[in-house]
Amino acid sequence: MNQNLPALLCLNAGSSSVKFSLYKAVNGSPELLFGGQIEGLLTQPHFKAIDADGNTLNERQWEQPQRRAEAVEIILDYVKTEAKDYQLAAVGHRVVLGGTEYPHSVLVDDAVLEVLDHYAPIVPSHQPAEIEAIRLLRSSHPDLKQVACFDSAFHRTKSEIADLYALPLSYRDKGIRRWGFHGLSYDYISTQLPQLSPRLAIGKTVVMHLGSGASLCGLVNSQSAYTSMGFSPLDGLMMGTRCGSLDPMIPLYLMDQYKMAPAAIEKLLIKESGLLGVSGISNDMRDLESSVDSGAQLAVELFIYMLAQQTGTAMASIQGLDGIVFTAGIGERSPMIRAKACAALAWAGVEIDPALNGSKIHEAHRISTEQSRVEVWVIPTDEEAVIARDTWKLCATGG
Ligand code: ADP
Repeated sequence: MNQNLPALLCLNAGSSSVKFSLYKAVNGSPELLFGGQIEGLLTQPHFKAIDADGNTLNERQWEQPQRRAEAVEIILDYVKTEAKDYQLAAVGHRVVLGGTEYPHSVLVDDAVLEVLDHYAPIVPSHQPAEIEAIRLLRSSHPDLKQVACFDSAFHRTKSEIADLYALPLSYRDKGIRRWGFHGLSYDYISTQLPQLSPRLAIGKTVVMHLGSGASLCGLVNSQSAYTSMGFSPLDGLMMGTRCGSLDPMIPLYLMDQYKMAPAAIEKLLIKESGLLGVSGISNDMRDLESSVDSGAQLAVELFIYMLAQQTGTAMASIQGLDGIVFTAGIGERSPMIRAKACAALAWAGVEIDPALNGSKIHEAHRISTEQSRVEVWVIPTDEEAVIARDTWKLCATGG
């Protein structure tokens, strides 16, 4: 047993789940050992750990809800037992918004926590949970280094114009700007492009991160120049339960005429809209794809319509289109959504090969035809790899 091999724990704390991955640092570059999650914290918590090949290592279930503090301790205990050969060197956290203060990952201290608290009300569905996980570990393991890795950081390369809303400028100082999110995913994709397609790495590429949350990023020379999410992760595309772009008058009208309280409107826009709200059936694209219900079909059509519409906005914002990359749950696994999205963008020179699109390849692969003006790729994302990379870098250099 070699107690000196360093390992890094990546944590992604959500409202009802905590996901984790453990990496070993091999010659300075992190390599996945195992990962997993505790889901259903508010109902019947379920713990599952899998190895790097997807084989189940451990599974447990509880009848009573668990607090996040307990979930974090369960994960830490499991990691310490399962990885006895390793010394936990640091914990890297996914944090949604780091504002202008953090255009990169950062070692957590009291001053950092103060900034994260300041931005938490912008992302009530995620950020308070992420901060709570950091604070819990700071009190239970005060000597453990912790790193915050931000979904907003990658988009800090956007121009001033791409960051602004057409409100009086003083509102920008209140934090009202187009922050953009899913940056850990876009960061990962940008690191893959040079090997996969040098043309897209230096060109104009729209990355479509289509998971239960969904957004677009317009890359120019592998840097973010446009993103469909804005002030909060609610803007832009239609998502699993989020509405995406909305006329700002709608919430005001609902408050005034229907006496809806802000909390009820927040629930409507974040939890009850999107695929779930329009279909009335499910927020899961798999359920809608296999349904013959007209509500399910309407939801899929609106999803595609908003996706194509926002791609047009992205193209105008970055002034061109050399390539499209599909990623995240829906983007990586739904040939049907990819086919419909590409058909809706045929006018822009997008043409895919149905055989390549339908193939069961789980690695990065090109799905456009040879003659397509726009290259189209499917690239599996890996946000944890970016967290591990930055956590290791900051640990090794001491910040
Ligand atoms: P998250 O955004 O929660 O990290 P993912 O990126 O894993 O999630 O995406 C989850 C979503 O991906 C699910 O809600 C589901 O709609 C969709 N999804 C997963 N597998 C498939 C599939 N085979 N076909 C269509 N959609 C899928």
